[in-house]
Amino acid sequence: KKIIIAIDGHSSCGKSTMAKALAKAIGYIYVDTGAMYRAVTLYAIRNGMFTGESPDAALLESRMDDIHVSFRLNKETNLPETLLNGECVEKDIRGMEVSSKVSPISALPFVRTAMTRQQQLMGEKKGIVMDGRDIGTAVFPNAELKIFVTASAEVRAGRRFKELQAKGEKVDFEEVLKNVRERDYIDSHREVAPLRKADDAILLDNSQMTIDEQNAWLLKQVRR
Ligand code: C5P
Repeated sequence: KKIIIAIDGHSSCGKSTMAKALAKAIGYIYVDTGAMYRAVTLYAIRNGMFTGESPDAALLESRMDDIHVSFRLNKETNLPETLLNGECVEKDIRGMEVSSKVSPISALPFVRTAMTRQQQLMGEKKGIVMDGRDIGTAVFPNAELKIFVTASAEVRAGRRFKELQAKGEKVDFEEVLKNVRERDYIDSHREVAPLRKADDAILLDNSQMTIDEQNAWLLKQVRR
C-alpha cells in the first residue's frame, strides 16, 4: 500500500538529497516544496516586487492567479526541474538572491494557502515523498511516515557553501552561514505554519552521518 512520506527540517540539512534518493529507491514521486516557494520568490524579484528586503505583499497577492509552479523530469539528467509558468527556472531559484528573499515570501499567508493546496492535490494518489518545512504539520498532518531532519548551522552552511562553489557561484562562508541562521529564525518564528517538528515525526540529526548511512537509516524507517 502506498503512503505519504513527509520530510521536514531546517535549511540545507540535506533533506532534498535524502528525499530524492528515497523516492527513487521505492518508486515514489518526489516533490520539493521549497522549490515552489523559491519559484514564487523569483517571480516577485523579476516583477520588481521587492523594495530592499521587503516584498510588496498586496501586489503579489493580486498576481497569485498568474503564478503557476510545476515540475517535469529532465530526461537527460533524470532529475526533476522546476517550472515557473512553463519556463525552466531550476538554476535561477537556487542562487543566493532567491535564498536571501524566500523566507519573507513564504511567510505570507496567501502564498502558503496557495502552495499548500497545490501540494495536497499532488499527494492525493499517495506514493509521494514530499520535503519542506510544514509537510508533517500543515500539508499532510496524517502522513503515514514523518521525518524531521536537522544538523548544526555550521555543518549545514558548510554543505551549502560547497554546493554553491561547485556551481561556480562566488560565495563567502560567513554570508552563507548568516543566511542559514536567518532562514532558520524566520521559518520557525512566522505566524503561519512555522517550522517545527510534528509530535509524531521521527527526529534525525545527520551532522555526523554520510549520505549512504542516511539513506540506509531512511529505508529502515520505511520498512518498519
Ligand atoms: O528547502 P529550501 O531551502 O529550498 O526552501 C526554501 C525556503 O522556502 C525556506 O527557507 C522556507 O522559507 C520556505 N519553505 C517553506 N515551506 C516549505 C518549504 C520551504 O516555508 N514547505
